[in-house]
Amino acid sequence: MHFSDIQSCEALLRQRLPAALQPLLDDPPLQTLAWDFFRQHEVQVDVLRCDLLHPVISGNKWYKLKYNLVRAWQEQKTVLASFGGAWSNHLHALAWCAQQGGFASTGFVRGEELAANANPMLQDAARWGMQLHFISRTRYRQKAVQVSADTLLIPEGGDNPEGALGCTTLIPAGLAEKYAAVLVAAGTGCTALGIRLALPATSTLWVAPVLKAGGLENVWRQRLQQMQDAGTGPVQWWADAAGGGYGKVTADLLSFIQDFGNNTGLSLDPVYGGKAMQALCNRIRQQSVPAGTRVLFVHTGGLQGARGFQPGQR
Ligand SMILES: *Cc1c(COP(=O)(O)O)cnc(C)c1O
Repeated sequence: MHFSDIQSCEALLRQRLPAALQPLLDDPPLQTLAWDFFRQHEVQVDVLRCDLLHPVISGNKWYKLKYNLVRAWQEQKTVLASFGGAWSNHLHALAWCAQQGGFASTGFVRGEELAANANPMLQDAARWGMQLHFISRTRYRQKAVQVSADTLLIPEGGDNPEGALGCTTLIPAGLAEKYAAVLVAAGTGCTALGIRLALPATSTLWVAPVLKAGGLENVWRQRLQQMQDAGTGPVQWWADAAGGGYGKVTADLLSFIQDFGNNTGLSLDPVYGGKAMQALCNRIRQQSVPAGTRVLFVHTGGLQGARGFQPGQR
């Protein structure tokens, strides 16, 4: 799939998506954060509320899945399969999309000791008809699974070219031009890839990785170049955002999220958005964001996964 396919993919989605999924084709709402801290530093932070896109498939996962749905239609697949951890927002979204779109679905879940009743995320997925297979960490790492010919096997996190191209449509047309910088959290980096591909060269992309994979930045930059060899605008990679690593949540982070929520009314999840926003606030405090900067923060959702951080659940 290529850039040139985007318009026909969008048209096909408008035509073929069931009514329950049509609202996902609307633009996410935009919100300006009113907070003295931002005002004092003369930084404007607007939020693209992808978390409000849909009550079930919130956040960026829809954008990574939508052209995979198109591909499944085109290749006449009847099953959508993918990989994820026990709290995977991606598997959760895939299970719902598949059910609504008339596909069967399969989820390969990391950890053979788990079962469908292990947590509410897996319970939802099972309820939406996803066949769950619990596999050992070794098999998971190697992605050693076999699927039938009528299955579209989507990589972990929805991270394939279809996923990245879907994310080029995440920021509504004409909006990004208004911002000097766009901030997004990154797991696989697929969402950030799509955003950078679609951003004007005048906007800087700030990427806040949430895992401490040392090589990720280089691999990501190579992928960007492969998809856009003419070059793109600037990217800053904020390695410090990851803190202790994936899913590692400190008391400091939790209290930041709490205070931030009290001050702005915006809820953030502790695995992705909370870390990205904390990294931004640190930079504003250290005066490394110039006064007058307008920032667009992409709220990628994750609040269903955040159920995993309620006391006693993890
Ligand atoms: C999956 C997820 C991300 C990361 O997206 P990538 O495309 O893997 O970088 C960010 N935020 C939330 C809330 C997510 O669920």
